[in-house]
Amino acid sequence: MTAVNYEIKEGVALVTFQNPPVNGMSHALRLGIVQAVDKAEADPSVQSMVLTGSQSAFSGGADVTEFGTPKVLQQPILRAVIEALEQCEKPVVAAIQGVCLGGGLELAMGAHYRIAKADAQIGLPEVKLGLLPGAGGTQRLPRALGLEKALEMITSGTIVRAKTLADSNLLDRVVEDDLIAAAIAFAQELAVNKAPLKRLRDLQVTSQTDAQTLLQTVREKLQASSKNFPAPVKCLETVQASIDMPFEQGLAFERQLFLGLMSSPESQALRHIFAAERAALKIPDIPADTPLREIKQVAVIGAGTMGGGIAMNFLNIGLPVVMLEMKQEALDRGVATIRRNYENTMKKGRLTAEQVEQRMGLLSTTLSYDDLAQADLIIEAVFEEMGVKKAVFTELDRVAKPGAILASNTSTLDVDQIADFTKRPEDVIGLHFFSPANVMQLLEIVRGAKTAKDVLATSIQIGRKIGKKPVVSGVCDGFIGNRMLYPYRVAADQLVLAGASPSQVDKALENFGMAMGPYRVGDLAGLDIGWAIRKRKAAENPSVPYEPVIADKLCEAGRYGQKTGMGWYKYEAGNRQPIVDPVVEQIIDDFRKAKGIEPRQFSEAEIVQRCLYALVNEGAKILEEGIALRASDIDVVYLYGYGFPAYRGGPMNYAQQVGLFNVVRSMQRYARESADAAAFWQVAPLLAKHTESGEPLK
Ligand code: NAD
Repeated sequence: MTAVNYEIKEGVALVTFQNPPVNGMSHALRLGIVQAVDKAEADPSVQSMVLTGSQSAFSGGADVTEFGTPKVLQQPILRAVIEALEQCEKPVVAAIQGVCLGGGLELAMGAHYRIAKADAQIGLPEVKLGLLPGAGGTQRLPRALGLEKALEMITSGTIVRAKTLADSNLLDRVVEDDLIAAAIAFAQELAVNKAPLKRLRDLQVTSQTDAQTLLQTVREKLQASSKNFPAPVKCLETVQASIDMPFEQGLAFERQLFLGLMSSPESQALRHIFAAERAALKIPDIPADTPLREIKQVAVIGAGTMGGGIAMNFLNIGLPVVMLEMKQEALDRGVATIRRNYENTMKKGRLTAEQVEQRMGLLSTTLSYDDLAQADLIIEAVFEEMGVKKAVFTELDRVAKPGAILASNTSTLDVDQIADFTKRPEDVIGLHFFSPANVMQLLEIVRGAKTAKDVLATSIQIGRKIGKKPVVSGVCDGFIGNRMLYPYRVAADQLVLAGASPSQVDKALENFGMAMGPYRVGDLAGLDIGWAIRKRKAAENPSVPYEPVIADKLCEAGRYGQKTGMGWYKYEAGNRQPIVDPVVEQIIDDFRKAKGIEPRQFSEAEIVQRCLYALVNEGAKILEEGIALRASDIDVVYLYGYGFPAYRGGPMNYAQQVGLFNVVRSMQRYARESADAAAFWQVAPLLAKHTESGEPLK
C-alpha cells in the first residue's frame, strides 16, 4: 500500500492518506502528500484538491514509530509539507473526519479551506507530552479561532468536536454525513468561483478582550497549576508570539521553544510513559490476534474494602455483577458502601440519579456459590489467608462454568499455589487492584506458571475496558509494586534511625514529587498491619532473634496511624493533616540511644537518593528475574499505583536520567557505612552490568 491514494474525481484530485491506524505523519506519508500536490498542480485536468484520511482518522499527528529515528527529521518535514499546501496554486481543501490531532491539525491548517464532519475530534494535545505544537500550530490556531479559544486548546491539550468550532476561520463548513462527497462539491465550487487561496498565515489574531491582560492572567494561572511542567507556559508564550510578532518570526520562535521542550527531562519522561503504557499491553509470547474469552457477567467474592471497589469498575461499564459474602450483613454493608460512593459522585455532578440506579440495578448479591455458575469472570477479594483462599477456590472449581476466568486479588500470596487448589490452574490469574479499587488506575495482572494465554490476553483487555492501566507481573512476594516498596521503606527507616525525622523524609520525597511521603502513607494505611506481619513472621522463625523497629514502639504505644488519631504524626479529630508530634521524636530518640546511635544530618537530596535508589535497585532485580517484562512496565506501576510524579517518568526512567553510573556510585558509597549497609546496598547484578556497558535498562 502506498502512503497516499491519488485519484481524480470530476476535476478534483482526491488524496487519501493510507497510514493506518491513525494516519501518523510518517516520512512516506509526508513525501506522498508533497508528490500529490506536484502532480495535481502539473495536471491541467485538475482544478482543485481534497486531502483526507480514513473515517476514523484524518491524522492523529506525528508517527510515534518514527520517534527517536532519523526519519523524523528527513525532508520533507511537516513544516515543509504545510508550506507546499499553502503555496499550491490550486485550491486545497482538507476534509476532516475522525481524529485530527497535533501534526494532523497543523497540516489541515496549511490547506486553503477546511470541511469537517460534525463529530470529528480536533485538538493540539502536544502539551500533554510536555511539548508544544511545533509545525506552526501555535501561530495558525489563534488566527483561525481567535486568541481565547486557541489559547485554551493549546495550553490544556483539550480535544473538541468539530461542530463546536463551526463559524470560525478554522472550519469553513461542517457537515453531518458523506464528508467526501461534500468536500468534492466544495472543491469544485471553489474552482468554478475562482475563490481566493486563503492562507491562515495572512490573518490577524482577534481577541474578544484585552489580549495582554488575558495572557497575563492565564500565565499566572498556569504558573501556579503546572509548577513542574514547563510546557503549558511555553505554549502560552508561543501563542503570545502570534500577537506580538509577524508570522514568520512567530514560527521561528515556536521552533526555538519546541526544541527546548523536546530536550527537557519533563517531556522526555511524559513521552516515555506514553510509550510505556502502550508497550505494557504487549506480551511477547502472546500474539495480538489471540482469541479472547467473552466477559458478559462478573462475580466478586468478598464485599469488603476491595470487593466493593472492584465490583464498581464493572458496573461502570454496564456489566452485571453478582457479589458473594459469608453473611447477609456483610453484603448489606458492601452494597450500601457502593451506593454511597455513587451518590457522592452524583453530588459532585458527575453522575445522574438515573445512572446511579442503572448501575445499582446491575448489582445482585448472594450467599450461595451456586449463583456464580453463569459468571465469565470471578474475582475473589476475601481475607488474605491461604486457608481462606483455598476454601474459596475449591468452591469455585466446583461451581464455575468451563472457561470462566478465576482471579485472585491477593497482594502477597502465591498465585501458583492458589491455582493448584483447582483442577483448572490454566484459568486462574491474579488481578491485583489497588485501593480504592474504583479509583486507582493501576491493575497488576499476575501471570501464574500455568495461566492460559487467552486468560492473560482477556484480562489485559478487560482491564483496559474498565479504564485501568494493566501491567503484567510474574509471581513473587509483593509482585512488582509492593516488592519494590519494601526496600524503599527500609531505606527511609534507616534514615530516621540515623538522624532524619519522619517529617523531613516525607517532605524531601514530596518535594521530589511523590504524592505522599512514606510516613504519611504509613499513617494512612495503618501501622498495625505491618506490626502484625512482623510478629507473625517472628513467631514462624523463633530461632532468628527478632530485631525491633521504631514502628513497633509506636504500635506498642497505641499509635496505629490516622485510625487512632496518632501514628508517625498526630491528627486533630476530623482532620487528616499530619502534625509533628514531640512524643514521636522522643520515642525515636530513645530508640537511637538504646542502640548507641549518634544522630546526624541528611540533606534533602541525599534522602531522596537513598529512598529512590533502593527502589531502583529492587526494580533491577525484578527485571532480571523476569517478574517485570520491561523497565518501562515498572515505571507504569509506580506512576499509576504509587503516586510517582509523571514528570520524572517512573523510578527506572529517573535512574536513567540521573545516569546509572551515578546511581551505582552512590549505592557503593552507602554500602561502605557498615556491614548491614553493605548487605542492603548490594548493587543488583543487572544494574552493575548496564552501568558497565552503558546500555539503558530495557
Ligand atoms: P476486607 O477485610 O475489607 O474484606 C474482605 C471481605 O471478604 C470481608 O467482607 C469478608 O466478610 C469477606 N470474606 C472473607 N472470607 C470469605 C469467604 N470465605 N467467602 C466470602 N467472603 C469472605 O479485606 P480487603 O482489604 O478488601 O482485602 C481483600 C483482598 O484484597 C485481600 O486478599 C487483600 O490482600 C487484597 N488487597 C487489599 C488491598 C487493600 O489495600 N486493602 C489492596 C490490594 C489487594
